[in-house]
Amino acid sequence: MSTELGALRRRLLAWYRREARDLPWRRTRDAYRIWVSEVMLQQTQVATVVPYYERFMQAFPTVAALAKAPLQSVLKRWEGLGYYARARNLHAAARFIVAQRGGKMPVTAADWQTLPGIGRYTAAAIASIAHHEPVAALDGNVARVLVRLFAVRQPIDSPTVRGLLWKGAQRLLAARRAGDFNQAMMELGARVCTPRNPNCGVCPLQRFCRGAAQGRAERLPVKRTRRAAQPVRAAAAAIEHQGRYLLVRRPAQGILGGLWQFPAVQLNGGGATSALRAHVRSRLRLDVRVGRQLATVRHEMTHRRLEVRVYGCACDESGVRVEGERWLAPEEFGELPMSVLDRRLAEIVLQGK
Ligand code: SF4
Repeated sequence: MSTELGALRRRLLAWYRREARDLPWRRTRDAYRIWVSEVMLQQTQVATVVPYYERFMQAFPTVAALAKAPLQSVLKRWEGLGYYARARNLHAAARFIVAQRGGKMPVTAADWQTLPGIGRYTAAAIASIAHHEPVAALDGNVARVLVRLFAVRQPIDSPTVRGLLWKGAQRLLAARRAGDFNQAMMELGARVCTPRNPNCGVCPLQRFCRGAAQGRAERLPVKRTRRAAQPVRAAAAAIEHQGRYLLVRRPAQGILGGLWQFPAVQLNGGGATSALRAHVRSRLRLDVRVGRQLATVRHEMTHRRLEVRVYGCACDESGVRVEGERWLAPEEFGELPMSVLDRRLAEIVLQGK
């Protein structure tokens, strides 16, 4: 088996040398830059990440620069990438490094995992790529490759299989070139051993692959049946007073924490107009007249399928009563970090003004 293992590693690394994409974070061993790229790449495609990464690095070229920046500027640079807890955790961890560790970055994977928002995968990826630590990094792409390689028929999302895959990944790892090996596995999963139509004909691991040999590569991995996304209906208020609109900042913790939005309420069967009016009165201490519906916006999230009706609303005052409120002209909406959904609402308001 050790000869087989050696051959597998050599083939994969040779393929990676030939085929690796030239990506900005692959031109550096700077742990900070690798860290930012790894966080951005969670749940997000490479092509989407590249321009965000470039802009982020221009704005915050060092961990000290990131720590010094206000959270709102960091969220603004993150806008559109989604999963905003990643940005908040990145910022909190940068501040922790500067305040508690004198700016000294962690080196080992174990040390990286002590920072907020850094899990086992990210810690291993950074430590292996930046410092050659021989620790396997198991992300979704790598897990899929391994399940097919070993022809695992149990659900990939079961904790037992997950544990076995971590062990399998560590066993396969080429200890002397751990960073390259981890990246090669990720690259293979992203470009050859893809979720649909794996391209086994060009795969450097084909001769070792049990899934391919059994003709079941495309049917793997098996997943536990997931709960369908829940439909959620909501109403949002574009509250206007003398050409300015009210935006509110979401609580720092929780979904989309720290981002700005139009006041909105979830509808649980009742009428949108009365629910919106009552919500704005109780939360924002403001009496509004709910006018016509401007649009209906549909938006998919991981576990929720949102349908938001946005209403034009008017009121007779525009003071700031509650912390985290701002009245802005539509041309100023772009200054605040918003979710993709609220950005769409902002565009509707801007077009309709
Ligand atoms: Fe994936 Fe096919 Fe390669 Fe096996 S041979 S690892 S199934 S691409």
